[in-house]
Amino acid sequence: MELEPGIHSLTTGQLPIGREPFKGFPPPNSYLVFGTDASVLIDAGWDDTADHEARTAYLRDLGPPPLAAIIITHRHPDHGGGALALHRSTGAPLASHALEREAIERGLFGGEARITRELRDGEELDLGGLTLEVVHAPGHTPGCIALFARERGALFTTDTVMGVSTTLIRPGEGSMADYGRTLERLRSLRAATMYAGHGGPITDPESRLQALIGHRQRRETELLDALAGGPRTVQELREAIYAGLPAARERLADQQLVSGLHKLRDDGRVRADDERWARA
Ligand SMILES: [Zn+2]
Repeated sequence: MELEPGIHSLTTGQLPIGREPFKGFPPPNSYLVFGTDASVLIDAGWDDTADHEARTAYLRDLGPPPLAAIIITHRHPDHGGGALALHRSTGAPLASHALEREAIERGLFGGEARITRELRDGEELDLGGLTLEVVHAPGHTPGCIALFARERGALFTTDTVMGVSTTLIRPGEGSMADYGRTLERLRSLRAATMYAGHGGPITDPESRLQALIGHRQRRETELLDALAGGPRTVQELREAIYAGLPAARERLADQQLVSGLHKLRDDGRVRADDERWARA
């Protein structure tokens, strides 16, 4: 489906994800971007045969300029899982940020393919009349990237900004501090449209980014307020902050809270005490 000239959605698996805790979540987006000389694919969805066939049929019917790269924005299987089959059927090189390379090669592809193109912050991909600028956007994962078609004001945000929910920041793999800085950086680009990793285009980037930044700041305040009465476990914090949460989503909530606590710890505002967190 054409979203605007030279930018197509190759999103398949139109049915939302059926598994808890992601039930009802829209499928991962895949975008084809092209100028007069070359095209690139931004993400390739799950490793799924029907999805792969739909994508290759779309490419065949459209006949875009040669595929110069299959860009994997980050290591998660709903974004890079389908890249291996597309790499094999098209011969196009696989590209990612250096900080995602190992997780993708080993974790996603089981050592069966290599990332041969490492994308750096600020690097520009000239597609002929359309330039894609690489924006290192850590937070969701360390080497997560966004891509910016400056001439169009089109920003491909993958899971850093989604139309449908806030972004999961898992402790260990993600960083809430990085994520906050990345949201500010994306805001500074003054995009006209954000094409997200899940869900439809976001036509009011400034208000969406402001809302996400505000949400993070409110969560920080809530954490500090919940610790005002004394030390709390993560479970106690969750019960105070996410009252009435369905059981299937408790683990995700705990991961968000721990990532938030890690940031506050690094800021010197809280400390960990055995199983409990306290104000510093
Ligand atoms: Zn992700």
